[in-house]
Amino acid sequence: MIEKKYKLKRTKVVATIGPGSLSKKKIRKMILAGLNVCRINFSHCGHEDALKIISIIHELNNELNSHVAILGDLQGPKLRIGLVHEDIILVKGDSIIVQHGQEYSNKNKLFINYTGIDQDVQVGEKILLDDGKIVLRINNIINQQVSCTIVQGGILSSKKGVNLPNTKISIPTITEKDYQDLIFCIKHHIEWVALSFVRRGQDIIELKKIIEQENGDCKVIAKIEKPDAIRNLNSIILNADALMVARGDLGVEIPTQKVPVLQKKIIRASRRKAKPVIIATQVMESMMTNLVPTRAETNDAASAVFDGADALMLSGETSIGKYPVRVVRTISKIIIDVEASDERRHFNKFLPFKSDRRYISDSICYQASEIANQVEARAILTFTASGYNAQKISSNRPNAYICVFTHNRKLLNRLSLIWGLIGFYYNKFESTDNTIEETQNILKSQNILKSGDFVINIASMPIKEKGMTNMLKLEKIN
Ligand code: PGA
Ligand code: MN
Repeated sequence: MIEKKYKLKRTKVVATIGPGSLSKKKIRKMILAGLNVCRINFSHCGHEDALKIISIIHELNNELNSHVAILGDLQGPKLRIGLVHEDIILVKGDSIIVQHGQEYSNKNKLFINYTGIDQDVQVGEKILLDDGKIVLRINNIINQQVSCTIVQGGILSSKKGVNLPNTKISIPTITEKDYQDLIFCIKHHIEWVALSFVRRGQDIIELKKIIEQENGDCKVIAKIEKPDAIRNLNSIILNADALMVARGDLGVEIPTQKVPVLQKKIIRASRRKAKPVIIATQVMESMMTNLVPTRAETNDAASAVFDGADALMLSGETSIGKYPVRVVRTISKIIIDVEASDERRHFNKFLPFKSDRRYISDSICYQASEIANQVEARAILTFTASGYNAQKISSNRPNAYICVFTHNRKLLNRLSLIWGLIGFYYNKFESTDNTIEETQNILKSQNILKSGDFVINIASMPIKEKGMTNMLKLEKIN
């Protein structure tokens, strides 16, 4: 069974599964150490390994009575150079040509997977290689060849990433590969699908259209890693089901010093719309090879929890790192300590809008958090079919545990990504009194509630109709 302290952790942990962690034994230990969501990174993971991950999670969820969700991360229009025979040394001041192609690159010419680069770029723009470590400036464009000067040199190996922050890239956000990977996600009922390099709300609308056409039930995460996405943040938040602050590419595409402020802004804007938000990349980077994180990493992870992120994500740390279980346990411990402190309790409040169709239910969710904080309630209990209420309560970041009861098993996994939500399967909705008593008893039997605790139930009356939430009950457990 999952230890109570990890089960009650509010900020969730997403971990990428890869060669370093792809075994049932390791994933089991990761779940026991506080893992909530497994990420399949389609940039590196083929469908065969993805299937293995999916079946392991299904088995473990049954064995451990856990609700671990799966997140399928679509590569999007990620630009890369191809292969090199041996590492290329690029020297500041030298010239180099960049062009579309599949051939091996060398110190005079780099081939990249970007059809139309010669048409999209303009003289004076920058091309960044390997996470911005190497910088080229474009001098002229002749016969599909983009000729550049090396502004910042370095050593370049195979398949390194390429970023063109100032260029309007004509490649569609959903590539042919993404389409195939998305169909795979839909077929296997993966709960969350993330789209890389989103530029506009329309990108999300298009992805959702495909999901709908294929009768899929995946929810969509927009990865924020382009300057365009920052400009179009509102329409992206409106259309996406969740967001990811993808600091890896974001910190290359915009000056790195701007990322901390953007992280806070994106978290606040997402929370305003009750959409979950994940903080990703280099969270525990040094634990790829070290047994302990740096002090700076510990502080960064803690800051994201203070900021009110829904989830922290591990990438290389768990997919190819040496200590996939240990890193999950380490980050869980950091989260638990921050959450136990008084310093955490200063989240700004978002009052519901009177004009909103769900004003009544939104108001109940808002007040549930307010009252819970005032009386220091141990838990807020809610019933839901869609997860809407649960998400709304979570967005207020109350101090009480948010216990979600639903008959929708699929939803239980999906909610694992969201701040503070603890899901329980429940399918008897006879009368409100009965349901309230039974669900409280479930929490007592799991030692989440004890005698003397204040507790809040919200529900819709009459309960059988499973309508909009319109009732709030405050009581003290006998
Ligand atoms: P990636 O996305 O790991 O797929 O590149 C995350 C990021 O860019 O931070
Ligand atoms: Mn990225």
